[in-house]
Amino acid sequence: MAHQEANSFSSLSDPWDREHLWHPYTSAIDPLPTYKVSGASGNRIKLSDGTELIDGMSSWWAAIHGYNHPEINAAAKAQIDRMSHVMFGGLTHEPAIELGKILLEMVPPSMHNIFYADSGSVAVEVAMKMAIQAAISRYGSHRKTNFATIRSGYHGDTWNAMSVCDPVTGMHGAFGAALPVRYFVPQPRSRFSGEWNPEDIAPLARLLEQKSDEIAAVILEPVVQGAGGMWFYHPEYLREARKLCDRYGIYLIFDEIATGFWRTGRCFAWEYAGVEPDIMCIGKGLTAGYLTMSAVLTTGEVARTISEGEAGVLMHGPTFMANPLACSIALASLTLLNAQPMADILSNMEKRLNEGLAPARELTDMVEDVRVLGSIGVVEVKQPVDVGRFQKECVRHGVWIRPFGRNIYIMPPYITNDEDIATLTNKMTEIIRSGKWI
Ligand code: PMP
Repeated sequence: MAHQEANSFSSLSDPWDREHLWHPYTSAIDPLPTYKVSGASGNRIKLSDGTELIDGMSSWWAAIHGYNHPEINAAAKAQIDRMSHVMFGGLTHEPAIELGKILLEMVPPSMHNIFYADSGSVAVEVAMKMAIQAAISRYGSHRKTNFATIRSGYHGDTWNAMSVCDPVTGMHGAFGAALPVRYFVPQPRSRFSGEWNPEDIAPLARLLEQKSDEIAAVILEPVVQGAGGMWFYHPEYLREARKLCDRYGIYLIFDEIATGFWRTGRCFAWEYAGVEPDIMCIGKGLTAGYLTMSAVLTTGEVARTISEGEAGVLMHGPTFMANPLACSIALASLTLLNAQPMADILSNMEKRLNEGLAPARELTDMVEDVRVLGSIGVVEVKQPVDVGRFQKECVRHGVWIRPFGRNIYIMPPYITNDEDIATLTNKMTEIIRSGKWI
């Protein structure tokens, strides 16, 4: 029944698109429906049939200021007229320099060197390469080149990024033995705002004690695990992980690609723990949903260790590195962020999301858990969501929400007003209550 409904709705998909264009995580021969967008402005997405949707997704955490922002548009247009791109090998430019200066004021104080990369996944690849090159240089051995992480993580779709995604819900099923084998420990179960259970860190402590001679780095999404399960864990875990990494000479990588730029209520999620990583990945909100770009930041010490190593250089250098257009857009986006009282905006969003999702807590036969942090609101349901069916209901109700697994969640653009947050949370709860997603 659910399947039939989803299929009948897929007649809305553009037939050419359906036949030829691959969309993420859906079949090429029996794809989920797609809705054709004719424009997007502010926090509204307009479909080609005239339907207007309130955006609950920020286009996967990226469009933090909403769409078609006049100041970011102006920055992009001005930069196009100067130059869209020049190679970064042997050349440099103001947008890269100015962006770097702003970034260093926003990230952990020990960050000193910036590597601009193409996407979140590539940032993770670069961070892992940095850790390996630094470990080889520091210890003079090629043995300490593996990684450890926690279960239910998500770090991207490229090879090494996949290898540290959750081994069950991630890519290991499809790619099996082709992936490098990493060390996994259970995810911390102490809730973000609950009590810290010291037992949570024991598996990582045991692993690092036993395998420290093999492990170059521990990689973690600080506080919020995103696409691996939308789980918010206790910041004490990060403090303990930092101590362990220091004890065993292991680098600590924070993947702040999803959590960065105020999404969790702080500029970056490391701030909740107050401990700094050795290497940090950022992306998504960096370019406000306009263009793909990410960055990897590291300490002066790691940069020096790599530079004093065998290769003498970091072995990565993409064609579109530090693309001036993307840098100008990022600069405009960060300037906008820094001109606003973001802590207040986010604490208001958190309050509204908590209020709006409170009724979902009462749907105890369907709902496992409701959690909110910053501008992220999650309803974890008891059964897997039929995404096609759920989205059909969303579009009918005028909202845009894209669930995965058992997680129905929103993280709206920061420009979303209280009324629209109420509409998003009300519609989300109404659709869950209707059961038209099972
Ligand atoms: N790390 C995290 C924490 C992410 O959430 C994502 C994207 N969902 C990535 C890495 C990969 O980023 P991208 O999709 O830009 O490659």
